[in-house]
Amino acid sequence: MKLFHIPRRVRGLIFDMDGTLYTNHAYGEHQNVVLIQRLAELRGLSYEEMNAQIDEYRRHWAQSHQGEKLSLGNTMVAFGIPIEESIRWRSELINPEHFLSPDPVLRSTLLAMKDYAGLAVVTNNPTDIAQRTLGTLGVLDLFSVIVGLDTFGASKPHDRSFLKAAEDLQAKPEECIAIGDRYDIDIALPLKLGMGGILVDGAEDMAPILTLLQNL
Ligand SMILES: [Mg+2]
Repeated sequence: MKLFHIPRRVRGLIFDMDGTLYTNHAYGEHQNVVLIQRLAELRGLSYEEMNAQIDEYRRHWAQSHQGEKLSLGNTMVAFGIPIEESIRWRSELINPEHFLSPDPVLRSTLLAMKDYAGLAVVTNNPTDIAQRTLGTLGVLDLFSVIVGLDTFGASKPHDRSFLKAAEDLQAKPEECIAIGDRYDIDIALPLKLGMGGILVDGAEDMAPILTLLQNL
């Protein structure tokens, strides 16, 4: 876990979903594989050929953007798949229920966090997948705000998504902390917007974040 800016007064916690509220390598892979597989079918390529093209594109993009990472959603746009189409594919193909299960430790930690701040998720999956993921983890009722890929038709990092989460939490941007596992996608932009930022290694970092809130 790495702390960037931590506001003195915190009213909102804006979480990334995947790799942040749960860690499940197989589910992470599944989400990428089903989308790349669909694109491969559309292009008449094998999965391996399509995957290699996507890897190559993202590598070149990173080289020309100071090593920054590009989300798969934005990579799909570059391959001619509009975000609206990505949203439909994700809703149809991604199955959190096949990989995840209730996490009582996560639930009790998030429940305690709610004494300090409202909870939001900003994710590059559509809202329905985010709801199913949070539901499968057993924590859906604890989140008052979900901003998904379909909310603005924009993939993170996107300022409107983070600002909308803060607004719906009735918090100023400078009263929020963005929490995620990818600096370029989850943290860098919120810091520019005046929010706090915490880069996590996974759901196991939720307990120390609770301790941090208790000691502000
Ligand atoms: Mg993530």
